[in-house]
Amino acid sequence: MTREARLFVVSGPSGVGKGTLVALLRERLTRLGLTVSATTREPRPGEVDGVSYHFLDDAEFERRVGEGEFLEWAWVHGHRYGTLRSEVERVLAEGRSVVLEIDVQGALSVRASHPEAVLVFIEPPSPEELERRLRGRGTEDEASIERRLANARREMSYADRYDVRIVNDDLDRAVDDLAHVIDSYETRSSL
Ligand code: 5GP
Repeated sequence: MTREARLFVVSGPSGVGKGTLVALLRERLTRLGLTVSATTREPRPGEVDGVSYHFLDDAEFERRVGEGEFLEWAWVHGHRYGTLRSEVERVLAEGRSVVLEIDVQGALSVRASHPEAVLVFIEPPSPEELERRLRGRGTEDEASIERRLANARREMSYADRYDVRIVNDDLDRAVDDLAHVIDSYETRSSL
């Protein structure tokens, strides 16, 4: 069976649990490559520069945008986040698939520049559950929670532009579904 390294984008509204889902996916599919995004937001306690994100100041982020270093970038919750081309190219050159866990605007701009990318939308079981999860995280003040909730409502409206949709109601099942999607697209050319 031939396996082809591919670009996957896992996205969905803030608070849907896509970070946890992708972390479990990586434990399951250790063949996946790892890319580190850049952001202008402050590191949270425990986050390490170069591992969690490349933490850049506004000027440095701007410079790299100008140099065309980003595959995509977007404003998310008042800060800039972006995927460095160099990170994606390095991993694909190793023959490993890339799974980008990024926001909805970023996902749609990857779709525009890389039509072959596979876009996976993670959906909450319900809007109420999404709000509960967003508040339960406990790391944000009320103003940023409200901003994330408003973004989440808008982001849900893009779900039908994705190749695949997975409901994150049961984490184990959602990881299974995601692993299956990756496996089937990687081996699709040999079918
Ligand atoms: P957080 O600040 O909680 O780490 O991430 C906030 C949001 O930024 C998440 O929805 C995450 O998917 C998104 N994000 C993380 N890295 C990137 C990136 O490289 N590009 C884009 N467009 N969004 C990202």
